[in-house]
Amino acid sequence: MKKEYDIVVVGAGPAGSIAARYAAQRGASVLILEKDRDVGYPVRCGEAISREGLEAFIKPDKRWINAEITKFGFVAPNGKKVVINLGKVEGYMLERRIFDYELAKTASDAGAEILTRAYVNSLINENGKVTGVNFEFRGEQKQIKCKIVIGADGVESRVGRWAGLETHIDFRDMESCFQVTASNVECDQDTLFFYFGKEVAPEGYFWVFPKGKGTANIGLGVSGGIGKKRSALSYLNNNLENLFPTANILTQIAGGVPSVVALKVMAAHGIMLVGDAARQVNPLSGGGISSGMMGASIAGRLAARSIKNNDLVYIKNYHKEWKKLRGKKHDFLDKIKDGLFNFTDIQFNNLIESMLKLPEKKRTVGRFFMIALKNKPSLLKDIAKVFMV
Ligand SMILES: Cc1cc2nc3c(=O)[nH]c(=O)nc-3n(C[C@H](O)[C@H](O)[C@H](O)COP(=O)(O)OP(=O)(O)OC[C@H]3O[C@@H](n4cnc5c(N)ncnc54)[C@H](O)[C@@H]3O)c2cc1C
Repeated sequence: MKKEYDIVVVGAGPAGSIAARYAAQRGASVLILEKDRDVGYPVRCGEAISREGLEAFIKPDKRWINAEITKFGFVAPNGKKVVINLGKVEGYMLERRIFDYELAKTASDAGAEILTRAYVNSLINENGKVTGVNFEFRGEQKQIKCKIVIGADGVESRVGRWAGLETHIDFRDMESCFQVTASNVECDQDTLFFYFGKEVAPEGYFWVFPKGKGTANIGLGVSGGIGKKRSALSYLNNNLENLFPTANILTQIAGGVPSVVALKVMAAHGIMLVGDAARQVNPLSGGGISSGMMGASIAGRLAARSIKNNDLVYIKNYHKEWKKLRGKKHDFLDKIKDGLFNFTDIQFNNLIESMLKLPEKKRTVGRFFMIALKNKPSLLKDIAKVFMV
């Protein structure tokens, strides 16, 4: 390990590894510091990802793909369900323990160094600029200087706050999630199922995602406001009892998902945030792997350009480029989320009923949201505003 690097990345999740890879590929010297002993573990994720979102960054590999997704299923509060055939593989179920590890290896192959069990506990600030990190490694306090710190430290990120960025999130926008991986579960191996309704997951959804024959990730997210009154775990236990009474629980996880648009300011002098740390999660689905990697690819590229040109001014373009690539879409999805998650059970039942009336060929995900909009015309005004920005 050197005493100084161009870039230090805090966190070796998908966003950290991609930021590091993109920067190292462009000639920057990069060090990733990861607090856990193993990259990729513990896993706090439903592990679903879109084909497009994955393949933009890594070639799918059977070693870390549990299932190929060709269908979406939506289940109404009254139990009626509609299955939408996507026609081809449009998504994957990952084995994140291996996936995160392999992604970190691609950063290493590009020239980045990685140090695990390295817990970053503060930033070095000089004349209003971030110029390095302090971290604990094997019981010793250490220091590394750098020109840019990339905070990829996940949903509970502190790097941004330490740098003085506004990272506060209203508790109502933090989806409270609980998930089990269970065996002895009957579930279609090519379908992601989403259940809606006040009983199953108010202001959120309940998911059943396949993880290989007889196993599934079964979980839910409810808004922070709901979670304060009744825990996500209590809703999940109820759903398991009603829908999967014979399931054997293999693992359990709890975690928050920021279901809100990305931070307004994701970078400042010597600092950039990526992934969950920058709230780059899809606000409607709660999926943050692919959008985090997208944000990280922009950050890694701009950070390397700043280093190469010896001018940190390039990191100022980060927000603009994020907005162009993904941000506008996220604003739109955030509006849909606000409408959809406030649907009454009757509106959800009507939505599924309308889909079932359509011939199978016309049942698309796009049409699902179009019908949702028709059920809630007030949403159209908000969405029009997003397009006009
Ligand atoms: C229950 C649940 C289900 C989900 N399901 C899905 C899904 O199906 N699909 C999807 O796309 N997304 C899903 N998500 C969201 C997804 O898990 C995250 O968006 C994604 O992991 C974000 O990647 P990241 O690299 O930004 O952060 P993370 O993957 O959280 O990685 C952050 C890394 O930083 C390290 N770190 C933190 N602090 C420090 C420190 N001080 N020093 C050093 N290292 C540090 C952590 O150990 C960790 O390795 C789900 C989330 C939850 C909670």
